[in-house]
Amino acid sequence: MRPRLKQVGWTRDLHTLRVVMDHRDHLEIDDADGTVERLLELLRAGGRTIADLSAELSRPGHSVPPDDVVAAVGALDAARLLQDGDRLGTLAPSRHERYFSNLAFFEPFASLDTATEELQSRLLDCHVLVLGAGGLGGNVVQNLAGLGVGRMTLMDRDVVQARNFARQFLYQWEDIGRPKVELAAQWVRAFDPAIAVQAISGEIDSADALSRLLEDARPDLVVSGIDQPRGVDLWVNAACVTSGVPFVRGGMFVTEGLVLSVDPGKSGCLDCTTPENTGGDPLAGRDLDNARIYAEEVRINRGIGPVATLLSSLVAFEALRYLTRFEPPAYAGNLLWIDFAAGCATRREPWARNPNCSACAADSASMQRR
Ligand SMILES: [Zn+2]
Repeated sequence: MRPRLKQVGWTRDLHTLRVVMDHRDHLEIDDADGTVERLLELLRAGGRTIADLSAELSRPGHSVPPDDVVAAVGALDAARLLQDGDRLGTLAPSRHERYFSNLAFFEPFASLDTATEELQSRLLDCHVLVLGAGGLGGNVVQNLAGLGVGRMTLMDRDVVQARNFARQFLYQWEDIGRPKVELAAQWVRAFDPAIAVQAISGEIDSADALSRLLEDARPDLVVSGIDQPRGVDLWVNAACVTSGVPFVRGGMFVTEGLVLSVDPGKSGCLDCTTPENTGGDPLAGRDLDNARIYAEEVRINRGIGPVATLLSSLVAFEALRYLTRFEPPAYAGNLLWIDFAAGCATRREPWARNPNCSACAADSASMQRR
């Protein structure tokens, strides 16, 4: 291990160092004799083992034993100020340029155990199945491509229509009448030829059909931006729970947006929330009769560009959590609502696993993420 200091700044006020990595926080360190500041300088230069640091910090009459260096390095790592230089250098220089902003974003979350480049490598090695290349799916695809997800499988059944242009920015006016999924795959290939992308023209018509697709494609994650055919959410849920593949869903009900995810075997699943399973109101605050009547009587997509891109960004962010684990999933068993009639105010509705859930309770002990 060769600990390296992240991009931090510090100032000295007499005997105290003020070390800042994030404007929200800082670390104050007592450093009367300047040893800590010297340690920070050596860590910033990097390339030194604990033994090297101990030797360079020690001087006649002032020994700094390795145990003291270990303790100091441990404290700096606990403050998220270090990563391990031995874990860096795995990405080719050209990829550093491509993923410069990703690596910069990851830096505050890295540690001696997990380097920034490892988080990027996880994205490069993963495969995401995106259901739907419309307002949600299309914008998620662009975000995943920017993040550098190594492989995508896209599925959609529709052709481009003029009404799509309010919220779907993958397509050109001349594309009207052409299949979205082919155009979306073309967009990804042109954006970054390093991304492997497969287009599947069609729709999910049962849980079994999706299970077969999951078995063939073996994605690490499913993103769902479809609400047709009716019941598709529960098919996606059943197939993903059975296969142990997490999924993220974004959608819109009239004046509200929602984002949720299901982490099979860990969080509640969509079936855990149905009245049959919970025996009550599964989503506090929603009038189920209103929801049922509306769903049966009215079917209109009201999504405009800001709605689609906002929800897609939150879905892509949740995907990033699953794919890198830079932090735990935020919406697993913890529904996020966004109120478009109240300044995009958000509220959360946690839902627990239901021990009687027909989808996830029976074989939960045997479920393993692949
Ligand atoms: Zn369940």
